[in-house]
Amino acid sequence: MVYTVTLIPGDGIGPEVVEATRRVLEATGVKFNWEVAEVGAEVMAKVGTPLPDSALESVKKNRVALKGPVTTPVGTGFRSVNVALRKSLDLYACLRPCKTYPGVPSPYKGVDIIVVRENTEDLYAGIEYERGTPDALKLLKLVAETRGRVREDSGISLKLISEFGTRRIVKYAFDYARENGRKKVTAVHKANIMKFSDGLFLSVARDVAKGYPEIEFNDVIVDNLCMQLVRNPQQFDVLVLPNLYGDIVSDLCAGLVGGLGVAPGANIGEGIAIFEPTHGSAPKYAGQNKVNPMATMFSGMLMLRHLKEYAAASRLEKALAAVIAEGKDVTYDMKPDKCGGVGTSRVAEAVIEKLRSQV
Ligand code: NAD
Repeated sequence: MVYTVTLIPGDGIGPEVVEATRRVLEATGVKFNWEVAEVGAEVMAKVGTPLPDSALESVKKNRVALKGPVTTPVGTGFRSVNVALRKSLDLYACLRPCKTYPGVPSPYKGVDIIVVRENTEDLYAGIEYERGTPDALKLLKLVAETRGRVREDSGISLKLISEFGTRRIVKYAFDYARENGRKKVTAVHKANIMKFSDGLFLSVARDVAKGYPEIEFNDVIVDNLCMQLVRNPQQFDVLVLPNLYGDIVSDLCAGLVGGLGVAPGANIGEGIAIFEPTHGSAPKYAGQNKVNPMATMFSGMLMLRHLKEYAAASRLEKALAAVIAEGKDVTYDMKPDKCGGVGTSRVAEAVIEKLRSQV
């Protein structure tokens, strides 16, 4: 079987880490037909949009993509291509596995946490009102009428959490747990304070959990979670969180297991998925053959699992783990003093050598 996959190189360090990953994925023996789709600033200059319809159509058609990071200009310029892709394709689940492999630069051992972040709601939905605008004042007046005095010079960001959005993300987390032999799902919230948004998230999560009696369910308040993660991360298995907490906690977990250089990710919708590293385009390192391609390679491993190529995924994980454990062919960020290290393409060669030496 040959898989047609959309390949989005992205910009900055994107093309280098994606190329390194393409090479190792091909070395697993799985056959790919890569449909390359360019997005970002350079495309914007050529065709007037950073996300051409052709790129979007390619992902819609192939239902699976491997993507490098894409720069979002600060303040001016176009809106985030990453957000546009997530919104257009309704990629409601952000999956961030965080696992320690012997040799990663981390004081922790035995961490194996799956962070499942809701991707479409919460304070990140972009429903905001600027201080002093007629709409902001109208809304504040309504709040004042129903809840008492509020400061008129307030800016407003609305936090909307729906039953629909919660049910689908918690169900995703439990289905993931079931399919991947996971034992426990923990819902993360601040329902003691935000009774109607996080409270809804928690009550829906409890309800969904009833449909999965073989999987343990518990809940934890987000500030306590952060403390517990730092003190004893090994107690957690699958975490499911609303958007904002998910964003923060997934970076915390990436830090626990060795940093951005090894933190993979996936954005998943109904029958459609984009696999990409957690890190951004790190423009200052672009074109230097310097950065760590492993986060993208681990994302490629997730893609193999998504394609049900479980044996190839395991072989790739083993090869990556072997290169990390040896500590010889790794980039600067994996070195104890954060200097030295081999280049991006050498990491690819080392992983390919490990794949070829497996019996
Ligand atoms: P970043 O992740 O690009 O880089 C921050 C720092 O992390 C780098 O300077 C580098 O020291 C380190 N780093 C990142 N990736 C690494 C790797 N593979 N190997 C070794 N070290 C690595 O974050 P940023 O500087 O905040 O963002 C740069 C751009 O990327 C911004 O335009 C941002 O919007 C964009 N971004 C895109 C995505 C995406 O495409 N999904 C995600 C995050 C940020």
